[in-house]
Amino acid sequence: MTPSPWPAGSCPGRCMLVGAGPGDPELLTLKALKAIRLATVLLVDDLVGDDVLALALADHPAPPRIVAVGKRGGCASTPQAFIERLMIQQAWQGECVVRLKGGDPFVFGRGGEEAEHLRAAGVPVEVVGGLTAGLAAATALGTPLTHRELARGVMFVTGHARDGGEEPDWDAIAAAARAGITLVVYMGVARIEAVQQGLRSALPDRTPAAVVQHASLPQQRSVLTTLGELPQAVRREGLGSPAIVIIGEVLQGLASLAADTPLAAPQDAAAATA
Ligand code: SAH
Repeated sequence: MTPSPWPAGSCPGRCMLVGAGPGDPELLTLKALKAIRLATVLLVDDLVGDDVLALALADHPAPPRIVAVGKRGGCASTPQAFIERLMIQQAWQGECVVRLKGGDPFVFGRGGEEAEHLRAAGVPVEVVGGLTAGLAAATALGTPLTHRELARGVMFVTGHARDGGEEPDWDAIAAAARAGITLVVYMGVARIEAVQQGLRSALPDRTPAAVVQHASLPQQRSVLTTLGELPQAVRREGLGSPAIVIIGEVLQGLASLAADTPLAAPQDAAAATA
């Protein structure tokens, strides 16, 4: 093992990895709010909404130093190694570092890697969970993700290819879906053709599918469609990132709900059960 570059002894500061939820400030947990109010340094991800930040800082006892570590303003994303180094340095300087992330820090948020690196550097780490976007998307649609007759479980997957271009194991994912597992796909909308292609060989084209962009926010938009029509529906509705794609028979129930909800177009609801 290589020796730690960080000082010996106990670290005077600490770091909290805090989930900010999907965007609606009302979905911030009380625990997250409390953590933010303890922060002396606040690192903010680009998925954290301005309203969330405004609420969290509204009566902050001593406004923290805020570091934006996302892609806002068209800048390139801050390198992960830089963010981690900054957190470690600040904690060792005695700061209470809060890393505020969209959704839940441990769902596609690199929270696992960060916690590991912080602990290895001797920094005490606490984690405050948040409502993940996949659950907010289901709420937005008014659909359950599990159902005694239609879905025995849920799988959160990324639609993103790994660095180096390696695709998700679509065969394994489709096999789960065939076994009655609802798929909740993060980071899939920009590669919607690849998602469709990956699943199509094992799942029927009529499999219900839905996309929710900006779940829980005022600009939220969604479409209910089928696996066969998924890319066309995304293009027709002009949906883009950040969005969640949900695929599975559990969406059947939306056909009856769609008449009451402005979230899904009735013609798409009909297609989902065709
Ligand atoms: N840790 C986050 C996920 C980060 S990965 C969480 O638990 O929610 C980034 C992806 O999350 C986006 O590409 C998108 O797929 C999804 N996402 C985040 N916020 C979203 C939102 N408000 N609506 C829809 N999708 C969202």
